[in-house]
Amino acid sequence: MRLDDQRASDNIEDRRGMGMGVGTVGIGGIVLAIIAAFMGIDPSVVLDTAQQMSSREEAPAPQKSGPPDQMQVFVSKVLGSTEDVWNATFREMNREYHDPKLVLFTGATRSACGTGQAAMGPFYCPNDEKVYIDLSFYRDLRQRFHAPGDFAQAYVVAHEVGHHVQKQLGIMQKLEALQGRVSKAEFNQASVRVELQADCFAGIWANRAGKSKLLDPGDLEEGLAAASAIGDDRLQKQAQGYVVPESFTHGSSEQRVRWFKRGMDSGQMSACDTFAARAL
Ligand SMILES: [Zn+2]
Repeated sequence: MRLDDQRASDNIEDRRGMGMGVGTVGIGGIVLAIIAAFMGIDPSVVLDTAQQMSSREEAPAPQKSGPPDQMQVFVSKVLGSTEDVWNATFREMNREYHDPKLVLFTGATRSACGTGQAAMGPFYCPNDEKVYIDLSFYRDLRQRFHAPGDFAQAYVVAHEVGHHVQKQLGIMQKLEALQGRVSKAEFNQASVRVELQADCFAGIWANRAGKSKLLDPGDLEEGLAAASAIGDDRLQKQAQGYVVPESFTHGSSEQRVRWFKRGMDSGQMSACDTFAARAL
Protein backbone atom coordinates (compact mmCIF):
# COMPACT_ATOMS: atom_id res chain seq x y z
CA MET A 1 0.00 0.00 0.00
CA ARG A 2 1.04 3.63 -0.49
CA LEU A 3 0.10 5.39 2.70
CA ASP A 4 2.74 8.15 2.75
CA ASP A 5 0.23 10.86 1.91
CA GLN A 6 -2.64 9.31 3.86
CA ARG A 7 -3.89 11.20 6.91
CA ALA A 8 -3.50 9.21 10.14
CA SER A 9 -6.58 8.83 12.34
CA ASP A 10 -6.63 10.24 15.87
CA ASN A 11 -9.13 7.60 16.94
CA ILE A 12 -6.56 5.10 18.21
CA GLU A 13 -6.45 3.94 21.81
CA ASP A 14 -3.13 2.31 22.52
CA ARG A 15 -3.58 -0.06 25.45
CA ARG A 16 -0.65 -2.28 24.62
CA GLY A 17 1.27 -3.41 27.66
CA MET A 18 -1.39 -2.03 29.99
CA GLY A 19 -2.58 -5.37 31.39
CA MET A 20 -6.15 -6.15 32.28
CA GLY A 21 -6.99 -4.51 35.58
CA VAL A 22 -10.08 -6.01 37.20
CA GLY A 23 -11.99 -8.23 34.78
CA THR A 24 -15.69 -7.74 34.28
CA VAL A 25 -16.30 -11.19 32.85
CA GLY A 26 -15.65 -14.28 34.95
CA ILE A 27 -13.14 -16.92 33.93
CA GLY A 28 -16.08 -19.01 32.66
CA GLY A 29 -16.99 -16.30 30.20
CA ILE A 30 -13.43 -16.04 28.96
CA VAL A 31 -13.09 -19.79 28.49
CA LEU A 32 -16.46 -19.81 26.70
CA ALA A 33 -15.31 -17.01 24.38
CA ILE A 34 -12.06 -18.78 23.54
CA ILE A 35 -13.88 -22.04 22.81
CA ALA A 36 -16.43 -20.09 20.74
CA ALA A 37 -13.66 -18.42 18.77
CA PHE A 38 -12.19 -21.81 17.89
CA MET A 39 -15.64 -23.05 16.88
CA GLY A 40 -15.92 -20.13 14.48
CA ILE A 41 -18.57 -18.31 16.53
CA ASP A 42 -18.32 -14.50 16.62
CA PRO A 43 -16.79 -13.93 20.09
CA SER A 44 -18.47 -10.55 20.50
CA VAL A 45 -21.81 -12.35 20.57
CA VAL A 46 -20.59 -14.80 23.21
CA LEU A 47 -18.98 -12.03 25.21
CA ASP A 48 -22.19 -10.05 25.10
CA THR A 49 -23.97 -12.99 26.68
CA ALA A 50 -21.22 -13.41 29.27
CA GLN A 51 -21.40 -9.71 29.98
CA GLN A 52 -25.08 -9.94 30.88
CA MET A 53 -24.03 -12.00 33.88
CA SER A 54 -21.72 -9.29 35.12
CA SER A 55 -21.79 -5.54 35.48
CA ARG A 56 -21.24 -3.20 32.58
CA GLU A 57 -18.15 -1.15 33.24
CA GLU A 58 -16.47 1.50 31.19
CA ALA A 59 -13.23 0.49 29.56
CA PRO A 60 -10.15 2.25 30.96
CA ALA A 61 -9.31 5.66 29.54
CA PRO A 62 -6.67 5.71 26.82
CA GLN A 63 -3.17 6.44 27.99
CA LYS A 64 -0.39 8.02 26.07
CA SER A 65 2.64 5.81 25.73
CA GLY A 66 5.86 6.47 23.81
CA PRO A 67 6.13 7.70 20.22
CA PRO A 68 4.02 5.71 17.75
CA ASP A 69 5.78 2.70 16.26
CA GLN A 70 5.60 1.62 12.65
CA MET A 71 2.66 -0.74 13.18
CA GLN A 72 0.63 1.87 15.03
CA VAL A 73 1.28 4.41 12.26
CA PHE A 74 0.17 1.85 9.67
CA VAL A 75 -3.05 0.98 11.49
CA SER A 76 -3.92 4.64 12.15
CA LYS A 77 -3.42 5.51 8.48
CA VAL A 78 -5.60 2.60 7.38
CA LEU A 79 -8.23 3.69 9.90
CA GLY A 80 -7.90 7.27 8.62
CA SER A 81 -8.50 5.99 5.10
CA THR A 82 -11.67 4.14 6.18
CA GLU A 83 -12.85 7.35 7.90
CA ASP A 84 -12.33 9.32 4.67
CA VAL A 85 -14.15 6.71 2.59
CA TRP A 86 -17.10 6.20 4.93
CA ASN A 87 -17.63 9.86 5.75
CA ALA A 88 -17.84 10.54 1.99
CA THR A 89 -20.05 7.49 1.34
CA PHE A 90 -22.46 8.43 4.14
CA ARG A 91 -22.59 12.03 2.85
CA GLU A 92 -23.67 10.64 -0.53
CA MET A 93 -26.54 8.89 1.31
CA ASN A 94 -27.39 12.11 3.18
CA ARG A 95 -26.36 10.50 6.44
CA GLU A 96 -23.73 11.32 9.00
CA TYR A 97 -20.93 8.87 9.76
CA HIS A 98 -19.54 8.73 13.29
CA ASP A 99 -15.96 7.47 13.36
CA PRO A 100 -15.27 4.37 15.45
CA LYS A 101 -12.34 4.08 17.84
CA LEU A 102 -9.67 1.43 17.35
CA VAL A 103 -8.08 -0.16 20.41
CA LEU A 104 -4.65 -1.78 20.17
CA PHE A 105 -4.08 -4.23 22.99
CA THR A 106 -1.81 -7.06 24.03
CA GLY A 107 -3.13 -10.26 25.57
CA ALA A 108 -6.48 -9.17 26.94
CA THR A 109 -8.46 -5.98 27.41
CA ARG A 110 -11.84 -4.82 28.59
CA SER A 111 -14.59 -3.82 26.19
CA ALA A 112 -18.28 -2.98 26.66
CA CYS A 113 -18.88 -6.46 25.16
CA GLY A 114 -16.76 -8.19 27.82
CA THR A 115 -13.12 -9.16 27.91
CA GLY A 116 -11.34 -9.18 24.58
CA GLN A 117 -8.72 -11.92 24.22
CA ALA A 118 -5.92 -11.97 21.67
CA ALA A 119 -6.85 -15.60 20.88
CA MET A 120 -10.23 -14.48 19.57
CA GLY A 121 -8.72 -12.41 16.77
CA PRO A 122 -9.81 -8.86 15.96
CA PHE A 123 -13.40 -7.95 16.81
CA TYR A 124 -15.87 -5.07 16.84
CA CYS A 125 -17.91 -4.26 19.94
CA PRO A 126 -21.18 -2.54 18.97
CA ASN A 127 -21.81 -1.46 22.59
CA ASP A 128 -18.83 0.91 22.70
CA GLU A 129 -18.37 1.24 18.90
CA LYS A 130 -14.73 0.22 19.06
CA VAL A 131 -12.60 -2.11 16.94
CA TYR A 132 -10.20 -4.24 19.02
CA ILE A 133 -6.96 -5.60 17.57
CA ASP A 134 -4.08 -7.42 19.18
CA LEU A 135 -1.37 -6.98 16.58
CA SER A 136 -0.14 -10.55 17.17
CA PHE A 137 -3.06 -11.51 14.88
CA TYR A 138 -1.00 -10.11 12.02
CA ARG A 139 1.71 -12.63 12.80
CA ASP A 140 -0.97 -15.35 12.71
CA LEU A 141 -2.18 -14.05 9.35
CA ARG A 142 1.33 -14.45 7.97
CA GLN A 143 2.32 -17.69 9.64
CA ARG A 144 -0.83 -19.72 10.37
CA PHE A 145 -3.10 -18.43 7.62
CA HIS A 146 -0.39 -17.75 5.01
CA ALA A 147 -1.85 -14.36 4.12
CA PRO A 148 1.08 -11.95 4.30
CA GLY A 149 1.24 -8.35 3.17
CA ASP A 150 0.17 -4.91 4.33
CA PHE A 151 -3.06 -4.94 2.37
CA ALA A 152 -4.11 -8.19 4.05
CA GLN A 153 -3.58 -6.42 7.38
CA ALA A 154 -5.56 -3.41 6.19
CA TYR A 155 -8.38 -5.67 5.03
CA VAL A 156 -8.77 -6.96 8.59
CA VAL A 157 -9.24 -3.38 9.85
CA ALA A 158 -11.63 -2.60 6.97
CA HIS A 159 -13.75 -5.69 7.77
CA GLU A 160 -14.14 -4.69 11.44
CA VAL A 161 -14.93 -1.10 10.38
CA GLY A 162 -17.54 -2.70 8.09
CA HIS A 163 -19.30 -3.90 11.26
CA HIS A 164 -19.24 -0.33 12.54
CA VAL A 165 -20.88 0.81 9.30
CA GLN A 166 -23.53 -1.87 9.95
CA LYS A 167 -24.01 -0.52 13.49
CA GLN A 168 -24.49 2.98 12.05
CA LEU A 169 -27.07 1.60 9.61
CA GLY A 170 -28.96 -0.36 12.29
CA ILE A 171 -27.99 -3.79 10.89
CA MET A 172 -26.03 -5.02 13.95
CA GLN A 173 -29.02 -4.18 16.14
CA LYS A 174 -31.27 -6.40 14.00
CA LEU A 175 -28.89 -9.30 14.48
CA GLU A 176 -28.76 -8.74 18.25
CA ALA A 177 -32.56 -8.68 18.37
CA LEU A 178 -32.63 -12.17 16.86
CA GLN A 179 -30.43 -13.59 19.60
CA GLY A 180 -32.36 -16.07 21.74
CA ARG A 181 -35.51 -15.64 19.59
CA VAL A 182 -34.57 -17.94 16.73
CA SER A 183 -32.87 -21.32 16.54
CA LYS A 184 -29.10 -21.48 16.69
CA ALA A 185 -28.94 -22.49 13.03
CA GLU A 186 -31.14 -19.54 12.00
CA PHE A 187 -29.07 -17.15 14.08
CA ASN A 188 -25.88 -18.45 12.48
CA GLN A 189 -27.46 -17.94 9.05
CA ALA A 190 -28.19 -14.30 9.88
CA SER A 191 -24.71 -13.92 11.33
CA VAL A 192 -23.14 -15.20 8.10
CA ARG A 193 -25.05 -12.56 6.13
CA VAL A 194 -23.81 -9.86 8.53
CA GLU A 195 -20.21 -11.11 8.15
CA LEU A 196 -20.33 -11.33 4.36
CA GLN A 197 -21.78 -7.83 4.22
CA ALA A 198 -18.85 -6.57 6.33
CA ASP A 199 -16.54 -8.20 3.74
CA CYS A 200 -18.48 -6.44 0.96
CA PHE A 201 -18.14 -3.12 2.82
CA ALA A 202 -14.39 -3.79 3.12
CA GLY A 203 -14.48 -4.21 -0.67
CA ILE A 204 -16.16 -0.81 -1.06
CA TRP A 205 -13.35 0.68 0.99
CA ALA A 206 -10.77 -1.08 -1.23
CA ASN A 207 -12.51 0.26 -4.34
CA ARG A 208 -12.43 3.84 -3.08
CA ALA A 209 -8.95 3.59 -1.57
CA GLY A 210 -7.82 2.35 -5.00
CA LYS A 211 -9.23 5.51 -6.57
CA SER A 212 -7.22 7.52 -4.02
CA LYS A 213 -4.10 5.75 -5.32
CA LEU A 214 -3.44 4.00 -2.00
CA LEU A 215 -3.05 0.58 -3.56
CA ASP A 216 -0.05 -1.11 -5.12
CA PRO A 217 -0.30 -3.74 -7.85
CA GLY A 218 -1.05 -7.05 -6.14
CA ASP A 219 -2.79 -5.48 -3.12
CA LEU A 220 -6.24 -6.68 -4.06
CA GLU A 221 -4.92 -10.22 -4.47
CA GLU A 222 -3.51 -9.94 -0.94
CA GLY A 223 -6.93 -8.89 0.36
CA LEU A 224 -8.59 -11.76 -1.44
CA ALA A 225 -6.05 -14.18 -0.01
CA ALA A 226 -6.79 -12.87 3.49
CA ALA A 227 -10.55 -13.11 2.95
CA SER A 228 -10.05 -16.65 1.74
CA ALA A 229 -7.65 -17.65 4.51
CA ILE A 230 -9.90 -16.63 7.38
CA GLY A 231 -13.15 -18.12 6.11
CA ASP A 232 -14.96 -20.25 8.68
CA ASP A 233 -14.39 -23.47 6.76
CA ARG A 234 -10.63 -22.97 6.83
CA LEU A 235 -10.61 -21.83 10.46
CA GLN A 236 -12.73 -24.77 11.52
CA LYS A 237 -10.63 -27.25 9.60
CA GLN A 238 -7.54 -25.91 11.32
CA ALA A 239 -9.17 -25.97 14.74
CA GLN A 240 -11.21 -29.17 14.57
CA GLY A 241 -10.06 -31.00 11.48
CA TYR A 242 -13.55 -30.99 9.94
CA VAL A 243 -16.16 -28.54 8.77
CA VAL A 244 -19.66 -28.00 10.20
CA PRO A 245 -21.50 -25.74 7.75
CA GLU A 246 -24.51 -24.89 9.97
CA SER A 247 -22.20 -23.49 12.61
CA PHE A 248 -20.54 -21.06 10.20
CA THR A 249 -20.80 -17.51 11.38
CA HIS A 250 -18.43 -15.84 8.94
CA GLY A 251 -19.13 -17.71 5.71
CA SER A 252 -16.91 -20.02 3.70
CA SER A 253 -13.68 -18.81 2.14
CA GLU A 254 -15.30 -18.78 -1.29
CA GLN A 255 -18.27 -16.73 -0.05
CA ARG A 256 -16.01 -14.23 1.68
CA VAL A 257 -13.97 -13.71 -1.49
CA ARG A 258 -17.14 -13.34 -3.59
CA TRP A 259 -18.65 -10.63 -1.37
CA PHE A 260 -15.37 -8.77 -0.93
CA LYS A 261 -15.08 -8.72 -4.75
CA ARG A 262 -18.66 -7.52 -5.17
CA GLY A 263 -17.96 -4.47 -3.03
CA MET A 264 -14.57 -3.95 -4.63
CA ASP A 265 -15.78 -4.17 -8.23
CA SER A 266 -18.86 -1.95 -7.77
CA GLY A 267 -17.90 0.42 -4.94
CA GLN A 268 -21.65 0.60 -4.26
CA MET A 269 -23.61 -0.06 -1.06
CA SER A 270 -26.43 -1.53 -3.16
CA ALA A 271 -24.13 -4.39 -4.21
CA CYS A 272 -23.78 -5.47 -0.57
CA ASP A 273 -27.34 -6.48 0.31
CA THR A 274 -26.49 -9.95 1.58
CA PHE A 275 -29.90 -10.13 3.24
CA ALA A 276 -31.72 -9.94 -0.10
CA ALA A 277 -29.41 -12.42 -1.79
CA ARG A 278 -30.95 -15.86 -2.34
CA ALA A 279 -27.59 -17.52 -2.81
CA LEU A 280 -24.62 -16.34 -0.81
ZN1 LIG B 1 -16.70 -9.93 11.30
